[in-house]
Amino acid sequence: MALSDITTRLAACAETHGRAAADITLIAVSKVQPTERVDAVLTEGHRIFGENRVQEAQGRWPDFQARFDGIDLHLIGPLQTNKARQAVEMFGTIHTVDRPKLAKTLARLAQERGTSPDLFIQVNTGEEPQKAGCLPSEADAFIADARAMDLPLLGLMCIPPVDEEPSLHFALLAKIAKRNGLSGLSMGMSSDFETAIAQGATHIRVGSAIFGERTPV
Ligand SMILES: *Cc1c(COP(=O)(O)O)cnc(C)c1O
Repeated sequence: MALSDITTRLAACAETHGRAAADITLIAVSKVQPTERVDAVLTEGHRIFGENRVQEAQGRWPDFQARFDGIDLHLIGPLQTNKARQAVEMFGTIHTVDRPKLAKTLARLAQERGTSPDLFIQVNTGEEPQKAGCLPSEADAFIADARAMDLPLLGLMCIPPVDEEPSLHFALLAKIAKRNGLSGLSMGMSSDFETAIAQGATHIRVGSAIFGERTPV
């Protein structure tokens, strides 16, 4: 089964690089996948899932949460401020904090609710105009601002450009995290998670290698 293949590869890769497999969180990215496939992975015992849209997650996770204990949801797609409240109610971790307005909204919600999801700041390492994330040159200042707002910042996240060597982007993300004293690195997907683990990933986001190809909606 695909899930056990990935956990086996994760463990082997961690060992090769002198890392503890337990320090690497496998997020099974279930966006757009048919319910039966998600159900199968839950039945196998996995509990950590990634979704990229608040609305899609709201549509189907309450049913799963009624049937399976201990589900931990991660938001890995862009977040609009008008969806922030729904997002903080649903997700234990948000990987896509990328602008001051969103950080302020999350800080206000944290104050009001007395709790906040764990947060990653998304960095647009490829400086792609169509992609979310703060620019590498703005990252240090944005990290400092988020910290000043008392937000629980775990680390940084990136999605490398599809046509470039991912390791250059992983290295850049790791460098920015290190100089800011952040230990979390959300990087690596189906095609490159082993490269990401080699470069220090603490959270890998794996979709199609676990669930099969996504059928376009
Ligand atoms: C879809 C998605 C993934 C998973 O991609 P796969 O190639 O299917 O593993 C990981 N991260 C983000 C941000 C995504 O949107």
